[in-house]
Amino acid sequence: MSETKGAPLSGTIMVVGGGISGLTTALEAAEVGYDVIIVEKNPYLGGRVAQLNQYFPKLCPPSCGLEINFRRIKDNPRIKFFTLAEVEKVDGKPGDYKVSIRLNPRYVNENCTGCNACTDACQAEISNEFNFGMDKHKGAYLPHEMAFPARYVISPQIIGTEDANRCKEACAYDAVDLEMSAKTIELNAGAIVWATGWEPYDAAKIENLGFGRYPNIITNMMLERLASKNGPTGGKILRPSDGTEPKSIAFVQCAGSRDENHLPYCSYICCMASLKHTTYIREQYPDAAVSIFYIDMRAPGYRYEKFYNTIKDDEKVTFIKGKVAAVEEASGDGITVTAEDTISGEKIRQTVDLVVLATGMQPSAAASKLPADLQFTEDGFVVNDFEKGGMFAAGCANRPADVMMSNQNATGMALKAIQTLVKR
Ligand SMILES: Cc1cc2nc3c(=O)[nH]c(=O)nc-3n(C[C@H](O)[C@H](O)[C@H](O)COP(=O)(O)OP(=O)(O)OC[C@H]3O[C@@H](n4cnc5c(N)ncnc54)[C@H](O)[C@@H]3O)c2cc1C
Ligand code: SF4
Ligand code: SF4
Repeated sequence: MSETKGAPLSGTIMVVGGGISGLTTALEAAEVGYDVIIVEKNPYLGGRVAQLNQYFPKLCPPSCGLEINFRRIKDNPRIKFFTLAEVEKVDGKPGDYKVSIRLNPRYVNENCTGCNACTDACQAEISNEFNFGMDKHKGAYLPHEMAFPARYVISPQIIGTEDANRCKEACAYDAVDLEMSAKTIELNAGAIVWATGWEPYDAAKIENLGFGRYPNIITNMMLERLASKNGPTGGKILRPSDGTEPKSIAFVQCAGSRDENHLPYCSYICCMASLKHTTYIREQYPDAAVSIFYIDMRAPGYRYEKFYNTIKDDEKVTFIKGKVAAVEEASGDGITVTAEDTISGEKIRQTVDLVVLATGMQPSAAASKLPADLQFTEDGFVVNDFEKGGMFAAGCANRPADVMMSNQNATGMALKAIQTLVKR
């Protein structure tokens, strides 16, 4: 069969990962007329951004932007998406891929109205991973308040128990289907964009920083959840050990990043994230003292530098240039941070109520390699091979990035995917 020059080989673009980058690629491609399939492993779209309280530097809630994207997806018949879905295998070549996708069971079908009766009926409680285990939710649950799709999930942990039957009986809409099982489907796509994003680096691996040994040492993503109104404390930043208000807080920058033993690269966003976090703290606790231990503060570009300067002007915030050597519990369950001040040369030991580790980003593909013929850096980021084409990485799958960079990059990868479909 002869092809017409410029005609699409296959009209479909597959986007793996439904975080902000995947949503952007999908919308940009669909809104100029291409069919798009999003494959997302979580039961909801939105990725890590759904866990953030506010965006730097404007300090607006990410839920606004996500809501707009979800509305655009709902209104666009060209976009289909699968949640609880993972790519198992990719065969083929640019313009003509065959993709096997595993669909994991939600045990709740499209009849779900979100009435919450299954949650009320369920007795078992399980760790809430959305809140990094800082609280629990029922075995039947909505992943979070703004979840899209707004469909409940029955955890596999309660399948086969009396609780699962209780959920089924409580549902007046015949939405609980305990017979659902995993299945594999095969789909065709002309181009694939991998937008599989990042995971917070496992702070427990950085032994000298004490995470996991002392409850009042938390990570920056945990702080995002503590500060969120739909988080485990209703938005109040409290000490995990006793639920009291912290009066002094220290941030440890580069926790794991720029360290050959952990993440050798700069994670790009964690200086800005800690500066943003000081605004969360100062708003809730106007008298609290904040210390930021840093190697270099990185606030690239005019808007970020302006934000940094505003925080520097705050007399309650102290910046200490020095790599932290240890974080340990002091008597009375305070936490002591030990560092050498590289400007004065003095050894500093400071005891505070709460320590926040500014942990960095590790590409999701570092833990579980993507099942496709892709190139990776040593650290697990996907390298874009534009000469080969066909498959591209967008957002934090490709490099550590903020939302603005992720969106710009994701828009570019939508164009690369479109070019794969139209060129021969
Ligand atoms: C503490 C902290 C605060 C931050 N605050 C800000 C801020 O205020 N402003 C800002 O601009 N940026 C901020 N960022 C950065 C921001 O979180 C990222 O830029 C953004 O999440 C990148 O989006 P993404 O879509 O590339 O990745 P992700 O958000 O990680 O989304 C990836 C998606 O892919 C899915 N996925 C992963 N693997 C697979 C697979 N194999 N199959 C199917 N699906 C898969 C995931 O479940 C997820 O939904 C912050 C980061 C941190 C650590
Ligand atoms: S599954 Fe049934 S009981 Fe649970 S929220 Fe949905 S409609 Fe309500
Ligand atoms: S952004 Fe800041 S805290 Fe994060 S790795 Fe780079 S220098 Fe360190």
